[in-house]
Amino acid sequence: MPGGEHEGADNPLLVTLRARIRRDGPLPVDQYMAACLTDPEHGYWRRAASIGTDGDFITAPEISQIFGELIGMWCAVVWQGLGRPAPLRLVELGPGRGTLLHDALRAARKVPGFSDALSVHLVEISSTLRETQRDLLVEGSPPAALGIKWHETLDDVPEGPAIIIANEFLDALPVRQAVLHDSTWRERVVDVDADGALRFALGPATLDMRGETSGTPNDGDIVEMRPGESRLLAQLARRSEPVVALFIDYGPLDATIGDTLQGVRRHRYVDPLSTPGSADLTAHVQFARLARQAHAAGLATDGPMLQAEFLGRLGIAERAARLMAANPGRAGDIEAAVQRLISPTGMGQLFKVLAVRSPELTPMPPFG
Ligand code: SAH
Repeated sequence: MPGGEHEGADNPLLVTLRARIRRDGPLPVDQYMAACLTDPEHGYWRRAASIGTDGDFITAPEISQIFGELIGMWCAVVWQGLGRPAPLRLVELGPGRGTLLHDALRAARKVPGFSDALSVHLVEISSTLRETQRDLLVEGSPPAALGIKWHETLDDVPEGPAIIIANEFLDALPVRQAVLHDSTWRERVVDVDADGALRFALGPATLDMRGETSGTPNDGDIVEMRPGESRLLAQLARRSEPVVALFIDYGPLDATIGDTLQGVRRHRYVDPLSTPGSADLTAHVQFARLARQAHAAGLATDGPMLQAEFLGRLGIAERAARLMAANPGRAGDIEAAVQRLISPTGMGQLFKVLAVRSPELTPMPPFG
């Protein structure tokens, strides 16, 4: 059960973090976020049932099967464009419950030869979610999923042409925050107050933020940086065979200023410092910066594009119409779920899609 436990002063991760900060000093925000998410004993990703209606937050593949199906068909088209390599490494970063891949593999079975060419690799740090993925993908056994392998990082995925899917993966990678204070940028840190509660503070170190900000920032402004993004892009760039990665996440197109660190628990926002390890912590993905970093790593990009437009170009309306015709009793639910994925007040506008690819490849559909 999510929630219930870990509420108050006896939250075990709070006790650990308090002691650590008193001993070693305040924690930069990225280290705090990493501890909350990945602490081997009390981190958020150790918990069961984080994703879904009964969990803390819901994601696109959990809203509608069409999301994973369209991505599966997209993978098959990209594979054809790569010249139908076999094996193709189909990699998902942070697969959650495995729902996207389950729907994708089912849909893509219709493309001759594709399933047989696949070697499926899941990059997942949560042992709890690995079990959930295994239950759905191996026990529910679509043929191509039988040879699934799990890895800690992308570097452990064997060489070979690869298609990489990452839905709501980057937002979970820790962010550092810089605060402009008296005209110098300082690291934002998490400290302990006299009552033992966590609070934000300014760290002693000044940060060199040249190239990280645009315009004229004001005192008190916060700029976020995500070191895991450039590490991941470097891993992509190191691969010797063609690679296409699809990043779907929420955040602005242009560089923005502001604190976007948020805690979510049982579908509600919570103070990110209030219940360490029991709330999901994420921050916006800045797509302009992601694209810039990809270029700096020697990769090419397509997009970013609004999720609504991306799904529209992949044929979400046609697929929904067919599914509704085949399931008239569920037509209203199918329609409502699709609207949630594409409407500007749902996920259609906040979510963006960026493809990152080896520079020798031609632009990817449906961008080019
Ligand atoms: N893609 C899924 C789940 C998104 S939640 C969906 O759309 O439903 C984020 C996922 O990334 C979870 O599976 C989480 O365990 C995993 N994750 C978070 N940080 C990770 C890291 N550093 N390495 C590997 N997996 C990570």
